[in-house]
Amino acid sequence: MSSSDAQTYTSTRGGSSGLSFEDVVLKGLAEDGGLFVPQSIPLLPSNWREWASLSFEDLAFEIMSLYIARSEIDSESLKEIVRKSYGTFRHKDVTPLVPLDKAKNLYLLELFHGPTFAFKDVALQFLGNLFEYFLVRRNANLQEGEKRHHLTIVGATSGDTGSAAIYGLRNKKDVSVFILFPTGRVSAVQEAQMTTVLDPNVHCLSVAGTFDDCQDMVKALFADTEIRKSQHLAAVNSINWARILAQITYYFSAYFSLVRQEGLDPNGEPPHVTFTVPTGNFGDILAGFFAKRMGLPIAKLVVATNENDILYRFWQAGKYEKKYAPPNDPSTHGGIAADGAAAHEEGVKETLSPAMDILVSSNFERLVWILLYEQQLGAPATTTATATGEGNTADAARRQASKDINSLFASLKASGSFEVSQPVLQAALGDFGAERVSDDETVATIKAIYAGNDAYILDPHSSIGVTAALRSIAKTFEDPLPQHTRRYLVSLATAHPAKFANAVDLALSGVQAYTFADIIPAEFAGLEQKERKVRLIAAQDRSLAGIRSVIVDEVRKESVAS
Ligand SMILES: *Cc1c(COP(=O)(O)O)cnc(C)c1O
Repeated sequence: MSSSDAQTYTSTRGGSSGLSFEDVVLKGLAEDGGLFVPQSIPLLPSNWREWASLSFEDLAFEIMSLYIARSEIDSESLKEIVRKSYGTFRHKDVTPLVPLDKAKNLYLLELFHGPTFAFKDVALQFLGNLFEYFLVRRNANLQEGEKRHHLTIVGATSGDTGSAAIYGLRNKKDVSVFILFPTGRVSAVQEAQMTTVLDPNVHCLSVAGTFDDCQDMVKALFADTEIRKSQHLAAVNSINWARILAQITYYFSAYFSLVRQEGLDPNGEPPHVTFTVPTGNFGDILAGFFAKRMGLPIAKLVVATNENDILYRFWQAGKYEKKYAPPNDPSTHGGIAADGAAAHEEGVKETLSPAMDILVSSNFERLVWILLYEQQLGAPATTTATATGEGNTADAARRQASKDINSLFASLKASGSFEVSQPVLQAALGDFGAERVSDDETVATIKAIYAGNDAYILDPHSSIGVTAALRSIAKTFEDPLPQHTRRYLVSLATAHPAKFANAVDLALSGVQAYTFADIIPAEFAGLEQKERKVRLIAAQDRSLAGIRSVIVDEVRKESVAS
């Protein structure tokens, strides 16, 4: 079977195209510095409404099958990868949709029932199993005397990403994972989550230094051709296409769950649903955009940023501009950045929602490329454009979109900003809204929801989504809708509140009946007393030579032990 355009991938910068799913998963970032996108977005099959009764796993299988050629991963294997990935979740629905405010038709999509209690598990559980699948397959076909294929994942973290990556990769064959974090600068829970994983292929490196030192060490490793090649280094940061793909599923499961809970006719007029998404690197919400383009009836996707608001500002005027915040007063709340990918960059404002503390938003490039491509094509980026024999037109449109992306990102690099044309901005406004939420509002919403909605406790990231949802409700209240059409809001809840104690305490301490201890999940109990495995990296060993030898040494020990 030949692959469709939705199952072949191209770099947004135009340097490579026609790549397989396996290529893009193992490469992560394209060699030209671009991000991988499917050459076209697949349209839903006409019977997609029948998916309403599927389990999360079966839904994931149907959606992923549109993006992965059968000839690359056969159905049985893909089903098995999906089953393994979501079998680790504590909730039978994987990502349950819960009513938050019935009167306002406001729902929360809880994404934090995975092993590390944050939404990154949805993607990283899947990515870990994919890595293993590809490697095991490569190793099954080894020639006499050929060395086993082995992947070494290296990442710096100051919170969520590190633990989600470790839980996604622990105990995987032919994969080692190294997570660097700054000694004493991650929260006690986060450190315990990472270091109490004792699997031989997991290596936590506690580095005497700052998060930036860790980040620099990782960058130095990737820039070193010798170790990159000899150890087959790979990254798990949020630009890996497989992470976006995995996240598409829960927009569908939320939609079907809403239809069920509201008693709507699944084959009738679709409900008017808006999703609000707390956003940092634009990965989570980009998955919603793919769902919308595929044909899932989504009215709007609302980008909800914290005070690091580059995306919010883009939707105001079409200008994407890095802005450096004045240095924080560390005494205000000493926030610990939760997402190693981008946080702690110079000029980032430290907020109560650290996983969204970014200066630029890495996945945004994918959206801009698709919008540019659609402008060129004069049609949506779905497969119909090529199915009607306009393949050459589509190719030319892609080339032009990549050319435009290259000049936009050259401008970003040179002057710290770029601007899109009015039609592109209008297109972006057609699919998205944007809201910016301050720390004060984040705290106020946690308080208000606790008081008014059955003591539900939001984590600060989820609170930003809900604040944006409440604002959207207030704003659109008077917009005309067709008769009998009801408006629904689904806000994405990205972390369990116990992971972000300081913001939650700030909002609720002193409130009667609230004690933080009550919200700590059973899985966290005793975590800090458990046996740990961690290697300390002294300041003088932070050099490239130092870290290189640690990695080579640890990987060698693993292969001796196995
Ligand atoms: C990573 C993260 C986000 C931001 O997600 P993006 O895909 O980067 O937009 C929001 N909330 C939490 C808790 C996260 O860990």
